Amino acid sequence: MGLIVQKFGGTSVGSIERIQNVANRVIEEKSNGNEVVVVVSAMGKTTDQLVTMANEISANPSRREMDMLLTTGEQVTISLLAISLIEKGFDTLSLTGWQAGIETEAVHGNARILNIDESKIKEQLEKGKIVIVAGFQGVTKDGSITTLGRGGSDTTAVALAAALQADKCDIYTDVTGVFTTDPRYVKDARQLLSVSYDEMLELANLGAAVLHPRAVEYAKNYNVALEVRSSMERMRGTIIEEEAKMEQNLVVRGIAFEDQITRVSILGLPNSITGLSTIFTTLASSHINVDIIIQSTTADQTNNLSFSIKTADLQGTLDVLESNKKLLKYKKVETETGLAKVSIVGSGMVSNPGVAAEMFEVLASSDITVKMVSTSEIKVSTVIDDMKMVQAVEELHSAFELSRVPVNL
Ligand code: ASP
Ligand code: MG
Repeated sequence: MGLIVQKFGGTSVGSIERIQNVANRVIEEKSNGNEVVVVVSAMGKTTDQLVTMANEISANPSRREMDMLLTTGEQVTISLLAISLIEKGFDTLSLTGWQAGIETEAVHGNARILNIDESKIKEQLEKGKIVIVAGFQGVTKDGSITTLGRGGSDTTAVALAAALQADKCDIYTDVTGVFTTDPRYVKDARQLLSVSYDEMLELANLGAAVLHPRAVEYAKNYNVALEVRSSMERMRGTIIEEEAKMEQNLVVRGIAFEDQITRVSILGLPNSITGLSTIFTTLASSHINVDIIIQSTTADQTNNLSFSIKTADLQGTLDVLESNKKLLKYKKVETETGLAKVSIVGSGMVSNPGVAAEMFEVLASSDITVKMVSTSEIKVSTVIDDMKMVQAVEELHSAFELSRVPVNL
């Protein structure tokens, strides 16, 4: 007998029928003699619909009230699932984030969990109850309701698993696991048996939407073993753990990609020691997330600076640069939209030099121009033309032999 945390995402609880299906999967674990804590997301596209409604009233709704609004989505699911389990004869109780003792920092819309008073859930488990907790929400010390950022229910599940010292944290979703790349684009994509925390963190940050990056960070810090698996199909999922086994000795574990990327270049910056920090502090204070950064010095001793951003942030970036033109003292700004980021990720790269070189070779031989590059110990990211994105992923997938990963049966 153990303690299991199960998390079910929006699609998995998207209808009454699916909530009943979830109830059955909870009952299976309970009937195996386990204590069970369940974390759920809002039903289907509920959160998006709530955001849309607020935006019909205001282009810039109060962040406090947005949290009040969005947390209702999860509250619908916890109660419906509890009603279903009680109807099926199981002693069950649902808890909001604050009832479950999830304390967060006082930041609306993207709060971090500071502390969990696990005694509240433990008390109920000891009474033999199945405990259902609303994902994605918490409460500040002074009682304001907060949310953990879009996709944050994963983080709730992992944080509860850590606080309760659960034996297992299963993330049930609408895919069967983590794949070498997105199977909707590449038909040879294979499901992975296991992925390390660091690899998953890179993949999640690089646009693989299967897990919330903060949840992976949390799992790594508290060493919580996760399994990403399907809520519909009964098959093995993907384990996320400290040291993932090397599959078939492959150096690359996965390929992530993302379109809607823009390059911004600031030309003719004065060559000063504080120039860079001024620019990036200015952008950061306007919440603009800058990704790959390249700086070069020109013959006339001025600097050119290029960085990539999400295209959605372009107008905001241009506004910030324009209104700080006097401070930053640049000559002009150029932009290039229609770009995509393609990244290879794998722990095996640490001990295998030449992986980046091989990636560039593959892209060059497919006539794909690399416009920007960034690397870490376990990843290489390139920015390319978005029209070539899928082709690049396919070529890299086959060059790094990712279809040699055995098909999951
Ligand atoms: N319902 C929230 C969202 O859609 C949180 C989650 O599903 O994880 O972002
Ligand atoms: Mg999610």
